[in-house]
Amino acid sequence: MTLTNNLKSFEIRAFELLDRLKWFNRLRWLAIIGIFVVTEFVVLGLKIKIVKFPFYICILVLIIANISYSLVLKVINKLDIQTRLNKATILANFQIAFDLLILTILLYYSGGIDNPFSYYYVFHIVIASMLLKSSHCYFQTFLASILYSGLLLLQYNSLIPKYYIFETNLIPSNYELIRISGTIVAFVSTMFILAYITSSISERLRIKENLLLETNMKLVDLDVKKSEFVMMAAHELKSPLATIQFMLKTLKGGYIGVNLDEKVIEQVNKIETRISMLLKLVTDLLDLSKIKTGFGNREFKKVSLVPKLQKTIEFFNSQAKEMNIKMDVNILGDESDFIIDGDDEYLSNVFNNIISNAIKYSYKEGKVEIILKKENNEIIFICKDYGIGIPEKDLNLIFEEFHRTSISKKHTQFGSGVGLAITKKIIELHNGSITVNSEVGKGSEFIIKLPINKKNMV
Ligand code: ADP
Repeated sequence: MTLTNNLKSFEIRAFELLDRLKWFNRLRWLAIIGIFVVTEFVVLGLKIKIVKFPFYICILVLIIANISYSLVLKVINKLDIQTRLNKATILANFQIAFDLLILTILLYYSGGIDNPFSYYYVFHIVIASMLLKSSHCYFQTFLASILYSGLLLLQYNSLIPKYYIFETNLIPSNYELIRISGTIVAFVSTMFILAYITSSISERLRIKENLLLETNMKLVDLDVKKSEFVMMAAHELKSPLATIQFMLKTLKGGYIGVNLDEKVIEQVNKIETRISMLLKLVTDLLDLSKIKTGFGNREFKKVSLVPKLQKTIEFFNSQAKEMNIKMDVNILGDESDFIIDGDDEYLSNVFNNIISNAIKYSYKEGKVEIILKKENNEIIFICKDYGIGIPEKDLNLIFEEFHRTSISKKHTQFGSGVGLAITKKIIELHNGSITVNSEVGKGSEFIIKLPINKKNMV
């Protein structure tokens, strides 16, 4: 495993432990209510004579402890990840040990060996195996054994006063010794067998979890490597393609001293279109792999969106005119309202992709409506067209690489299916969101929300 992998599994362990401690906290509230209800039931319902006072003290102590644990948990959550795991482990050990002590005290005041609630030690051992590593779980098992056996032995030797709930003092003393020894042996062996079973299951699960994590990290590494390879290949392809495009223009323009006839020009035009499509695909792939590998990441700067949007609209105006598409642009606010922390080039990419799609997938004589507005601390960009629309089953898929809807393929051959994948990644880098509403044959509406102040690094 690499260093990053170790760090990740370590982080996951910390998060998992903190999460389980929160759950343990909630469980303890239930236990506190349970102790109260059972005490009242035993006294009022079963009319068994027990001294209630120690029970109320234990309940109060548990309430104070549980509140303190949740406060400590909040403090631990603010620490760095390494310290967080260490402190959380100490807290978990302390909580279990303290709960074992309280359980022993409760048992002592409610009949000791005769109290069937001594089975409750089992829960503590199971919880210990879930929260702690095996060695710590065995330590807690040892502690439970000492506490319970100690209680029985101290009572048997009359070193502490006896609190009986049944008339067990009538049992002959030679039988009492056998009973106590038998109970201790059965108890200690049960606890250790239980600790062994539960902690080995938990340990195995943990190993599997780490294995999954490791595999996942390897896959992520491989994906980055794949993107790096695509980036290299796209980079190598881009310049020869651009050269071919330039040479075709030279050829068509008659700059090499040969005038081409109509038929040849027609063929050259076709080649030129194909080369443009290829160049667009290569550029998209290059952009996508740059974003995925973090290769082209830069620090965020203040970016003014209005001029950027106007420039993009200007760029697509002639294409829209060719198709008789009306561009309706509404900027609801001043230019100064639309300045965000972001990446200049990437944000241009977003406007380019969304607006070019809106035109590309519109019918002739259609309309594209663009709105830029500010709501609370967010900038909202809406681009609505009345074109071919997107089938419902494709609504999420269009943000995946290379996915094109079948109706869009029929509508135009231009398109690589990469633009929206890039757009989504860029929006995520800016902590924003992108959603789409669409109906086939009626049009699509893309909504992008970008937070204004985010001093993240891309
Ligand atoms: P492309 O280069 O194919 O347009 P994109 O990644 O930009 O790639 O879009 C992915 C697919 O989503 C498109 O091929 C098309 O099927 C669908 N799509 C995107 N925008 C629209 C739109 N405004 N109207 C209809 N379909 C769209």
